[in-house]
Amino acid sequence: MTANSAIPGSTALDPSLEAAMTSLREARAEALLEFARIPSISALPEHAADMVTAAEWIADRLRGLKATEVEVVKTDLHPIVYGKIHEAPGAPTALVYCHFDVQPADPLDLWETGPFDPFLEDGRFVGRGVADDKGQIVMHLYALEALRLVGRAPAVNLTFVFEGEEEYGSDSLFAWIGPNRSRLAADVAVISDTTFFEGNVPAITVGLRGIMYAQIDVVLSPVDLHSGGYGGAVENPANALARIIASLKGPDGRVKIPGFYDDVVALTPDERAAMAALPFDAEAYREETGVPALVGEAGWTILESKTSRPTLDVNGIWGGFQGDGAKTIIPAHAHAKLSTRLVAKQNPTKIFEALRDYVAQIAPPGVTVTTTYIHGGEASLTPTDHPATQAAVRALRAVYGVEPVFMREGGSIPVTAAFDHVLGLPVVLLGFPQPNCNAHAPNEWLSEANFESGTRVIARFWDELAAMRR
Ligand SMILES: [Zn+2]
Repeated sequence: MTANSAIPGSTALDPSLEAAMTSLREARAEALLEFARIPSISALPEHAADMVTAAEWIADRLRGLKATEVEVVKTDLHPIVYGKIHEAPGAPTALVYCHFDVQPADPLDLWETGPFDPFLEDGRFVGRGVADDKGQIVMHLYALEALRLVGRAPAVNLTFVFEGEEEYGSDSLFAWIGPNRSRLAADVAVISDTTFFEGNVPAITVGLRGIMYAQIDVVLSPVDLHSGGYGGAVENPANALARIIASLKGPDGRVKIPGFYDDVVALTPDERAAMAALPFDAEAYREETGVPALVGEAGWTILESKTSRPTLDVNGIWGGFQGDGAKTIIPAHAHAKLSTRLVAKQNPTKIFEALRDYVAQIAPPGVTVTTTYIHGGEASLTPTDHPATQAAVRALRAVYGVEPVFMREGGSIPVTAAFDHVLGLPVVLLGFPQPNCNAHAPNEWLSEANFESGTRVIARFWDELAAMRR
């Protein structure tokens, strides 16, 4: 039931299109290696010119595919690449999104070769970005190359948005989406920036968690106080902060903020059964993470707890004396950064207000406690029976000969929420790397089998999507 068994020479496409796919294999691999040689690291200012080079690389390819309105959009930071192929009057329009920026490559000494000296060996591409997310851009481009080679246009209308700041907060894209709403009009958004399920099982991601990030500051006095002279008479900010944090979540994993769970869309019994049937090995997951034991939320499995339930974690905590030896003070102040991972339909602002009000209510007298909002993003959830999701199911099934699984991810892809909530589009998350592809880590890799079969899934998907009603 894995993608490894799917080899080129698929019968999922008509014979002429499959022949075109096969004939393009070498060029496709070469294109990925060429693209992955551009060190488009969005977080590092010295790579600003490389971001433009990577954007132009895509734009040139789109023009070669006879896309119209191709544009490398200038922003405050890195460019966005826009283009469209609208040659299917009356058919649905898909907004296709991937990102061409990559994570920094350090630690460099752990790479087999340089991170931007990619290679293909033993069925694996290795190099920064081959999986996240450049390989998926090349899959989209080469699904179209094959169609063009046989003189066909995609059966649906495609609008492309390729982003250069996904690994750096997406600020420019968020600023650009609103004013360009009409150029982004579509029936569905297709995002290729996720992976298959553990064991390389073909999968469609239907849920991503959102986030609410905040900071709590507890202040006693302008300067540290002598713990001999003041201890016992004043509140200690570090003690107070510890008590506040201890009140936010119980040992059973339940968040104790009143109203926290009010808007949660609960997993249905069917969804829980489907999730329980997924090939997820909690013990292997524990071993891989190197922790002594796993702790889920009471009443929920580990997989449910880490993908489909909201949670709260302290991300950092500081205050007082932290040097060697001892210093007998009562710290002047103490702080914590914390975040909640949210699920549909929790609203980050509402969750922040609930946290702020609860903290104010439980804050001890004798210190000043403030809670500040840092950032937030909404969760997204696409129904598994949505016609676009079902079109993706048919495309995956046709190529792999197995039933794909639906999965939810614990993390966020902020653009998903923007497409969902700002543009009002259903989102299909169709990604092809294996989950252990070392994204963001040294020796990031992508199996050539997934690259080959994924390209065919995309070509087939446009046909399947054409059957979707507008
Ligand atoms: Zn990515």
